[in-house]
Amino acid sequence: SDEHFDAIVVGAGPSGNAAAYTMAKEGLKVLQLERGEYPGSKNVQGAILYASALEQIIPDFREDAPLERHVIEQRMWTMDDASHVGMHYRSNDFNEEKPNRYTIIRAQFDKWFSRKVRDAGATLLCETTVTELLRDSSGKVIGVRTDRNAGKVFADVVILAEGVNGLVGQRSGLRSEVAPDTVALAVKEMHFLPREVIESRFNLKGDEGVVIEAMGTITKGMTGTGFLYTNEESISVGIGCIVSDFAENETTPYGLLEAFKNHPSIKPLLAGSECKEYASHLIPEGGYNAIPRLVGDGWIVVGDAGQFVNAVHREGSNLAMTTGRIAGETVVWLNRRRDEMTKANLTEYTRRLEQTFVMKDMKKYRKIPDFLHGNKHVFTLYPKLFTNAAQSWFRVDGVDKRSKEKQIMSSFRKSRSILGLLGDAFKLARAWR
Ligand code: FAD
Repeated sequence: SDEHFDAIVVGAGPSGNAAAYTMAKEGLKVLQLERGEYPGSKNVQGAILYASALEQIIPDFREDAPLERHVIEQRMWTMDDASHVGMHYRSNDFNEEKPNRYTIIRAQFDKWFSRKVRDAGATLLCETTVTELLRDSSGKVIGVRTDRNAGKVFADVVILAEGVNGLVGQRSGLRSEVAPDTVALAVKEMHFLPREVIESRFNLKGDEGVVIEAMGTITKGMTGTGFLYTNEESISVGIGCIVSDFAENETTPYGLLEAFKNHPSIKPLLAGSECKEYASHLIPEGGYNAIPRLVGDGWIVVGDAGQFVNAVHREGSNLAMTTGRIAGETVVWLNRRRDEMTKANLTEYTRRLEQTFVMKDMKKYRKIPDFLHGNKHVFTLYPKLFTNAAQSWFRVDGVDKRSKEKQIMSSFRKSRSILGLLGDAFKLARAWR
């Protein structure tokens, strides 16, 4: 058909749903295209949902969204092969009326979000892959071609919410292929356990949840992290590393996950569980410097397709929802003013983004990817030094405390000169600013 829409959204993940919802709610005629069998069928996430980003779109989402547990405890672990040193933060303040973070299961969550998008008036076509962008003679994007009966659909603007490896944008030359050193490959499993077991194992009641982020020798010297999140009746466990690191090492993602699950600190948490799901997915981790062009004549990029992930804080879906919402709001604003969806006018989207945590955080951590890339010992040497120091400190063995202190200090100095230690601290501080 040659139907014309105010906007076409490619993809029904959190960024596409946020954009489609925002526009449909304001009465725009919106078509959303998703290649999966249903929204969420192709999507993978840990998954922690950050309430604040969703609240700005659907303030009362807690009433019917499929939420698993609200997070009351965060554990950050530095691991060597036998041990971990942990920083745990648990607070009853997180048992608030409107909790701040939840664990979710993306397949269910995306379906729910998509129902809201359709209730707001958008048209969704699943099992429909966008194959290319259509342009007029001036090069302005005027619609898309899909694999459905070679169908063409037209719109004033196309919002590309096609995820990290979005081929439409790549094939159309809007951005280059994702470089292997700017993207992580993560694998994840869902382990089922009765809820009482999860609650007693993690010291939880009701819908309280615990999340663990882990780094150290678990990634065998590669840049990456592991995680373990409690859901209502399951545990999500996964690990991911930068793709170019996998290419240089013999280790497979699945091998890493097996070893992580069998780590003495993790294994008892999963004991007796039944693994029912396995998934793998890419995560854009190139940071600010890897953000491609975000707008052009007739098009806008949102979410993972724009590399919007804060890897240090393990945030992605909230950046996806926020960029999607702001893109949607920009289109609504231009539509009301009867302004054309030109590159110059759509640049309002990037101007608005600059004012939000999204661009501020991306900028703040812009040097982190290079720092981690050039300082692999952060993932091997330091975890070992910290865990050894902890062991020496806590083991009571007749050695006097001053000698223990000396031992610990000399173990640091032996493996990394004072200059090396200071240099690392300095480089990290500079990258962190
Ligand atoms: P996606 O969710 O990838 O959605 C893109 C959609 O577009 C898909 O549904 C896809 O099928 C569709 N699509 C693609 N191409 C086409 C096409 N040509 N035609 C039609 N449809 C198309 N973030 C967090 O906030 N918290 C976490 O705990 C967290 N953990 C993570 C753990 C893992 C293992 C991974 C992989 C990611 C994690 N993230 C997390 C990141 C988060 O998942 C992403 O940032 C988020 O999903 C990005 O949303 P999106 O809508 O941009 O892309």
